[in-house]
Amino acid sequence: MLDRPTTKAAWLERAAALEPEGRAFIDGAYVSALSGKTFAKASPIDGRVFAQVADCDAADIDRAVAAARRSFASGVWRDADPQRKKQVLLRFAQLIREHADAIALLETLDVGKVIANSIAVDVPFCANCIQYYAELADKLYDEVAPVGSRDVAMVRKEPLGVVGAIVPWNYPLIIAAWKIGPALVAGNSVVLKPAEQSPLGALYLAKLATEAGLPDGVLNVVPGFGERAGKPLALHPDVDIVTFTGSTEVGKLMMVYAGQSNMKRVSLECGGKSPHVVMPDADIAAAAEAIAWGIYYNQGETCHAGSRVIVHESIRARLVAAIADVQRKQIPLGHPFEAASQLGAVVEKGHMERVLRYIDIGVKEGARIAHGGKRALEDTGGYYVEPTILDDVRNDMRVAQEEIFGPVVVVISFTEEEEAIRLANDTIYGLGAAVWTNDMNAAHRLTRAIRAGTVWVNTFDRSSLATPFGGFKQSGFGRDRSPHAIDKYMDFKTIWTSYK
Ligand code: NAD
Repeated sequence: MLDRPTTKAAWLERAAALEPEGRAFIDGAYVSALSGKTFAKASPIDGRVFAQVADCDAADIDRAVAAARRSFASGVWRDADPQRKKQVLLRFAQLIREHADAIALLETLDVGKVIANSIAVDVPFCANCIQYYAELADKLYDEVAPVGSRDVAMVRKEPLGVVGAIVPWNYPLIIAAWKIGPALVAGNSVVLKPAEQSPLGALYLAKLATEAGLPDGVLNVVPGFGERAGKPLALHPDVDIVTFTGSTEVGKLMMVYAGQSNMKRVSLECGGKSPHVVMPDADIAAAAEAIAWGIYYNQGETCHAGSRVIVHESIRARLVAAIADVQRKQIPLGHPFEAASQLGAVVEKGHMERVLRYIDIGVKEGARIAHGGKRALEDTGGYYVEPTILDDVRNDMRVAQEEIFGPVVVVISFTEEEEAIRLANDTIYGLGAAVWTNDMNAAHRLTRAIRAGTVWVNTFDRSSLATPFGGFKQSGFGRDRSPHAIDKYMDFKTIWTSYK
């Protein structure tokens, strides 16, 4: 293994020497798109093209789904001994750790996140997720139902078959692992379609899975664009479930595609506009620290980012100043290969422009820029946005209702608790929320009243593979993480026997 670079120059040198594999991974081998087409993958760090990626379409999806179906029908993985499944998946997790630097570099080049975080968070979280599900392989029991004395009714859980997984670019490795870990441990075969912005980490993982002993065809990775590769996967008549993470807009299309094709199941992890409700008695320093990290970590490109601060009017100014201060002291924006950086590039030029446009929209709607607000590090050729606070926001403004998905937090004030609850719930989303108060009664009232898949109290973004993650309302349905995530990739079969 190569030594881990310690300087920006050394990382740049490592990146320059890379020859990333951009072909699809189907039936145990890398293959070009049947059309022969590729697309250029540029890095948002500096705008430079660093890979060519297979531009797959319906024909490649057909090929991958056929490989997945063949492997499923053969039973080679579905019927493998649980101990064997465990060993293969544990080995897969181990290989991910052994290749951490190579995978982290691809992740950072693909999406612009800080290399230190790709190494310390994205890669280990991905490996830990595969390990978590590996360890469940030989701990999943079926049931025997309480029926008559001359009957045995077994309720068995069986894998669905072929899983189509469509994932976004913000946490490409982690979210891929949230899908493939439970789908594989349940015995399914998988076709994964990574986002066009972030195909390279997933393509690397596929080879490691094969090296770990996963049979050919059980995990296929087909890169390409949403309309050309994602849509045929979601419409495919031989796919049994589409498990999707991405925007609410595209999530709704998944339901349409399922209805237009084979009524496949759909599981959706979609957008968010998560509120922090900060009560007048809150610990302002603690709230400010969590709010700043919660919106600026990963450039705010986090589905459950706490992007709306709903704060009691009496402490609003102090909180806004404290958030800006935490950002300045703890979360510097910089080149992703600089050791000090905590906030890197946003995923692509178009996205940077969109985030900046939202800041303009906010100002036109009457918001005030209390911090940041501009493009940064333009001389790098990359796409960076200053960490931003929009103050004096009303909840009916577009910046309070629409997902900006960048380092921009909006601040809205309230005077009564009921108003805070109403504002927190006045959104189409329901992914996450946080409540800041030292009053236990208020904490219980608020956590009960706020409609979201996770509600944190006096903390934010604490998470574990042991807890389900997902949303209420238009943030989706179905859960990733925890043993519950396995259920959606399986179905119940009742086997009823009567005897004399
Ligand atoms: P997106 O919806 O644009 O794309 C997600 C995936 O869907 C990509 O792989 C894309 O290629 C594919 N896709 C796009 N159009 C398609 C179509 N017509 N048919 C089939 N597939 C299609 O989302 P994004 O911009 O990649 O990611 C950001 C979004 O993801 C945000 O809304 C964010 O909140 C959400 N997200 C949610 C969670 C969660 O767990 N709830 C986690 C991460 C991201």
